Amino acid sequence: MTIYLDHAATTTIRPVAMEALEDAYVRFDRNASGQHVEARRAKNALEEARERAASLLGTERPHDIVFTGSGTEADNLAVIGVSLAQDRRAIAISAVEHKAVLNAALSLTRFGYTLDTIPVSRSGVVAVDRVVSTPGPQPALISVMLANNEIGVIQPVREIAEAARLAFPGVVVHTDAVQAFSCDETTLEATGADLVTLSSHKFGGPKGVGLLAVGSGVLIEPIIHGGGQEAGRRAGTYNVAGIVAMVAAMEAAAEDRAGFSARTRAERDAFESAIVAGFPGATVTARGVDRLPHISHIRFPGVLAENLLIRLDQAGIAAAAGSACQSGAAEPSHVLDALGFTEEEAGECLRFSFGWDTNQGEGWRAATAVLATLAGL
Ligand code: PLP
Repeated sequence: MTIYLDHAATTTIRPVAMEALEDAYVRFDRNASGQHVEARRAKNALEEARERAASLLGTERPHDIVFTGSGTEADNLAVIGVSLAQDRRAIAISAVEHKAVLNAALSLTRFGYTLDTIPVSRSGVVAVDRVVSTPGPQPALISVMLANNEIGVIQPVREIAEAARLAFPGVVVHTDAVQAFSCDETTLEATGADLVTLSSHKFGGPKGVGLLAVGSGVLIEPIIHGGGQEAGRRAGTYNVAGIVAMVAAMEAAAEDRAGFSARTRAERDAFESAIVAGFPGATVTARGVDRLPHISHIRFPGVLAENLLIRLDQAGIAAAAGSACQSGAAEPSHVLDALGFTEEEAGECLRFSFGWDTNQGEGWRAATAVLATLAGL
């Protein structure tokens, strides 16, 4: 039986979300933008889901929620959509952002925007001081993720947002909270950001749906044009069932935060302790800083992570190396590069990520299997 330790890539769909998905797919199968009773029924379900999502994200204004087709799209809408709506043509992002933010920002540089990439410490943390002492022009947008998907490091987004607003009046702050939602409050207020990205399949909802929470007064230029859905901010026929199911998963995940954190931390810590004790030189990345409880990033000196990953797969352990690209192959990680890892060191690292349905004892069992696999290499 496989021990699935790749929840940061996609976690198991929660039963309430699966039920909501099936139910909504049958009941609200029509185009929610239509002008008949079946369309109105679908639209009502959509707007009810929007109200519930808004309340989970701490806003009384359902209009603040823009539903998207993924976390990637929400990140693109934040970075590109907000930049296009501003006069200032400069943005800043941290060096450890997900590629959805990084490549969206890089695409803007091809249209004359200035990009400041904010470095991180050896542990992967953004220094607040560095954010406000940008060498370039004043940014219109700053994007710093709440927590990193490869190494789990949590960023001081609130302090960054406060300092940035003092230094650069009018700046818009975006945070990608995709990996943090299962264990942390990610409301606009708690994060201090003007824009928050979420992705459904990271907290137990279906894939292909996400959202961007947009604080009041933030201007956004649409990046997908068409029928004017989402108050003109994101066109495209509504995925009503996906949205309803995502919101059901959001509610379940928000309710389960304390339990999720306690369960995954216990399994993750047991896993890491056993690995560090059992494999000479194994090091846990960013162990000393604030990290998500469910992500473990480990370097095995002298071991080619690609090989280990294949052997682990054969042994029934699903883990991840680098960040999976479209072909399924691992690419060198820009995150580890930003932390100062050499290419060789980065090639010795694997990510193990735990989830809401990780069972008690799985961390220890997985560590035993990983150590046995390492011994057989
Ligand atoms: N942001 C982070 C931090 C992620 O981990 C991911 C998924 O890997 C994304 C954005 C993209 O989300 P989606 O898979 O919904 O496009």
